[in-house]
Formats: sequence, structure tokens, C-alpha cells
Amino acid sequence: MLTYTEDLIKRDLEHIWHPCSQMKDYEELSPIIIKSGKGINLYSYEGKKYIDVVSSWWCNLLGHCNERISNAVKKQLDTLEHVIFANFSHIKAIELSELLCEVLPKGLEKFCFTDNGSSAIEAAMKMSFQYHYQTANPQKTRFMALTDAYHGETIGALSVGGVDLYSEIYKPVLLDVIRVQGPDCYRCPCGLNCKNCDAQCIKFAREEFVKYGNNTCAIVIEPLVQAAAGMKIYPPVYLKKLRALCDEYNVHLIADEIATGYGRTGKMFACDHAGISPDIMCLSKGLTGGYMPMALAITTKKIYDAFYAPYLEGKAFMHSHTYSGNPLACAAACEVLKILKEENILEQAAIKAKYFNQKITEKFSNHKHVGDIRSIGLINAIELVKDKNTKKSFDYRLRTGYQIYKKALEKGVMLRPLGDVIYFNPPLIIEKEDMDYVINAAYDCLVDVIG
Ligand SMILES: *Cc1c(COP(=O)(O)O)cnc(C)c1O
Repeated sequence: MLTYTEDLIKRDLEHIWHPCSQMKDYEELSPIIIKSGKGINLYSYEGKKYIDVVSSWWCNLLGHCNERISNAVKKQLDTLEHVIFANFSHIKAIELSELLCEVLPKGLEKFCFTDNGSSAIEAAMKMSFQYHYQTANPQKTRFMALTDAYHGETIGALSVGGVDLYSEIYKPVLLDVIRVQGPDCYRCPCGLNCKNCDAQCIKFAREEFVKYGNNTCAIVIEPLVQAAAGMKIYPPVYLKKLRALCDEYNVHLIADEIATGYGRTGKMFACDHAGISPDIMCLSKGLTGGYMPMALAITTKKIYDAFYAPYLEGKAFMHSHTYSGNPLACAAACEVLKILKEENILEQAAIKAKYFNQKITEKFSNHKHVGDIRSIGLINAIELVKDKNTKKSFDYRLRTGYQIYKKALEKGVMLRPLGDVIYFNPPLIIEKEDMDYVINAAYDCLVDVIG
């Protein structure tokens, strides 16, 4: 006789092809069937608790089954679940744009709605290309992106991504993107360290702008944190210098804030640390508090105006997704912004972030395989290396991070290392006791696996 959970696992594996997984791994580690969630915790049918320290893929912002967000969605559910968004509109989308305008970097005021992050990147790229086409620069047909970038999984978004694990095999069908050596503060390409750095590595970008700037529509970047690459963090001065280069060469700056937006870095948006405004900003993940799939490509009036013309000039942005502007998602997103403001979430998260990073540093920095500890906001990452002096990584075939992941599950912590980078990216509402617990658990798992 199978238990209830065993039966669910069997039925799951019968049909479901899980994302970003080698399905054969599930022979050894079954999918964990979650029954319910509350706050930062997830619960199995047996009542086992898992602390969601990765915010369920970085999207949960204010806890699972947050009362206010749930009520906002329930209310919307009995009012209007969905309506076509071409020629039609609804109050929650209007309210959301207004609320966001209050907190966005200056100049961002036109909202294109999509239903996932990758699609927002695609929309941003098409928008940028068409802008240049319609403003007498049809030679601008290419995109730039940084090494180690991650922007999603659809063909366009994957093209600007630079993490081989995701894109290598698809190279023959991807766009020919100009790859810019980006900042890498742990293994600095200029041989500097963060303390004496003025983002000298901007020179690599400048070289490409000199060569290709005239043929480039936009550079797509993750501001300050290259999350999927292992929570690689670089200083705001790099963004300032990149903004200046973009202005010089009439290249759009597309800021992919899908992972960094909504207080993850300690400010509302990562761009705020540098005081810059991108030409297009992409948002998703935290946008709905992790409730509903929705994303935005937000741009300036200047770009918008290049599409605004009599219909027969054929200048419209003919881009659409069936679920554009879904009212349920907009209702969740409006409530998220109200909660952030009314409950002073960012102010409190800043205090927690300080505590969290201090504790992590105390606990981990002397371990012989901890090469780097990096943090911004509540994001903390610990890079494990074979040799601290040479910064040489472990053999990837050992799957060190994965071994730690399995151990952590036993201790009820949902760590999900990126390669050999253990990281924490918890909901902003995490409390001290949980921080203490996950730090100690992660450390014990690390010691169990690599000594
Ligand atoms: C998650 C993510 C995306 C892709 O969003 P999806 O909704 O998964 O398509 C793009 N860029 C960044 C920085 C992300 O973290």
C-alpha cells in the first residue's frame, strides 16, 4: 500500500516534466508534494515544514497565503477574472500603473503587460528594435548583453543570456548577440578588489560600444545582481558608467529587474542604488508577491511617442499576449505595493538584512572552502571553492551544491544552491529566529558534505 504522498508522487512522475530538472534525478529524490503554505513556510501532507528561503524561485515577497493579498485576489475573483486587454481595460490595471509610477525611477511611465519574465524581455527587445527602426536608425539591429547574464528561457531572452548551462545547446538557433565581458567582483577581470574599484571593467563595454554601438539597439543587463549566475554582485558605479555609454551611443539600457526589483537589494529597485533610469525596465517575480504570473516592460514617453502615429503609418507595437493585464494578477500587484508602503516593509527588511549578513559572515567566513560571501539586501550568497587561495572551484561532477541541497531538505530548509553557490533570498518578512535556524542548518549541511 502506498501512502497518500507516495501515491501522489507516483502520479506526478507518470506525467509531469518538471522545469529545469534532469527527471532521472527524481528516482533518487522524489518531488516534494506541498499541501499548503503560510508565511515563509511550506508544509507537506505529513506536516513536514520547509522554510522557503529561496522565496519559491525569488518571487514570494510577503509570505505564502498572505492575508491581504489573498483577500484582494478573492475580491477580484468575484468581480472580474479576465478581460481582453486590447481596446478594453479595467480599474486594477489603471491603479497598478499609477501606484508603480510613484516608486519607479524617473521617466518610466508607459506600461506593456506580459505574463512572464521572459516575455517581458522579448517585448523590451522588440520595442527597442522598432523604436530605432522608426526613428531613422534601421541599422541598429543587434543586442548587447553581459557575460554570465540570465534573462529567461524563450529564444530571444535566452540569446541575451550568457550562462552556458541554459543556452549552450541552443546556440545554432539563438540571435547573434554582442557579448560584453561584465563585472566579476570575486574574480575581477582587472585584478582589482571591490574596495579600490571604480568599475574599471567598464572598459570592456566601452570597447564593444566603439566597435558596434552604431549597430546596437540595446544592452540588456541585470542591475547589480546577476542572480542565476550565482548571485554575483557588482557596484552601482558600473551602472552609472553604462548609462553614460548608452547615452553617448544612442543605445537603450534595458534593466532586467525581474529578480532585483521589489526591495530584494534593499532599495525598491537595484537601479535606485545608482540613481539611474533605464530606457526600459522589466519586472516580474515580486510584482505580484509571487501570487500570479505577470510581468511588465515599462518604458519612457520618448520611446512610446515613436510608435504614436496615424494607424496607416504602421508604427504601432503589434505585440500581445492573451493574458495581458490579467485583473487577478493586477489586483495582487496593487495590494503588494500598498502593503510595502503601509507596513514599512523595506525599512524593516533593511534592519533584518544587516543582522542576516552579520550572522552569515560570522558563521561561514572562516570555513576552509568558503571562497566568497556576498550580500545585498536580504540576498546572501556563499561561494564554495576547492581552494581559497587559487579560487579554484570544485569539480562540477561532484555536484557539491546538490548534495547540500538534499541534506538541507532533511533539515526542513529549502536551500537551492546555484552550482556551488549556496544562497539565501528569503521573503522580506523573514524573522530573526528563522534566519538563525537556516544559517545553522545550512552550515551543518555544508560540514556534512565537504567537511
Ligand atoms: C526569472 C528571471 C527571468 C525570467 O522570468 P520567467 O518568468 O521565469 O520567464 C528573467 N530575468 C531574470 C533576471 C530572472 O531572474
